[in-house]
Amino acid sequence: MTGKKPIAVLSIPFDEKSSYLRGPAQAPVKIWEGFHCSSSNQFTESGIDLSDCEDFQNIGELALEGSIKERFSQIRRAIDGIVGSGRRVLALGGDHSITFPLVHGYSRHYSDLTIVHFDAHGDLYDSLDNDSLSHACPFARIMERGLVNRLVQVGIRTINTHQRAQIERFGVETIEMKNFTPGCLADVKGNVYVSFDMDALDPAFAPGVSHYEPGGLTSRQAIDLIQSLNCNIVGADIVELNPLRDWHDMTAMAAVKMMKEISAKMLEH
Ligand code: MN
Ligand code: MN
Repeated sequence: MTGKKPIAVLSIPFDEKSSYLRGPAQAPVKIWEGFHCSSSNQFTESGIDLSDCEDFQNIGELALEGSIKERFSQIRRAIDGIVGSGRRVLALGGDHSITFPLVHGYSRHYSDLTIVHFDAHGDLYDSLDNDSLSHACPFARIMERGLVNRLVQVGIRTINTHQRAQIERFGVETIEMKNFTPGCLADVKGNVYVSFDMDALDPAFAPGVSHYEPGGLTSRQAIDLIQSLNCNIVGADIVELNPLRDWHDMTAMAAVKMMKEISAKMLEH
């Protein structure tokens, strides 16, 4: 046995806070199908065989019921329980709204978290369409509660006046695509939560998302950024894959790739 905390991969098929299109609730099934598809193998680029790794566990789907508030507290409590049992969670969404209850669960166990947030969007709206729990708002909810020390965003290319003000208000470190450099995450240290919205990738690489925003990361740039991290990843999520918009499962396979490479980085510590 290593001293590592095992990774528990938890599926959260929830897309009711999507502002534009539903579909991400169907993502976890497609990601696992892709993981097991014989078109590829289960090795990380670092050489770990995830099909034969006791520290990488599929713990299935989280059963959610009741109102949105109840379901968010079910997500928070599930994280609290799994992290409390000495494991780390890699959550498969779902739309991005789930990152708020996920991080809320984490914040009970870590007082010093840094979030590394991959996205085309800042997701910092105080509210969108009169909904403060929209998938456009999770990082506003996280920052106003002080759940993390630091929020570093990468891939961003849709900042408007309101979100610019939110960045200032919360002290968010937003690395916009126009200023992107390969070493831009070099100063990320300590305990880190990675939140990966699939639309951080350019739509050319990831058409299976609800919001197309050209000018994004290549798959390789995203993988290089993950592999460049020199920190302790305590948790992660991969969100916003929309299989209803996908083309021959190519975005599902991109999500599988991110799952493998984030897991490889987690398994270093
Ligand atoms: Mn997002
Ligand atoms: Mn997005």
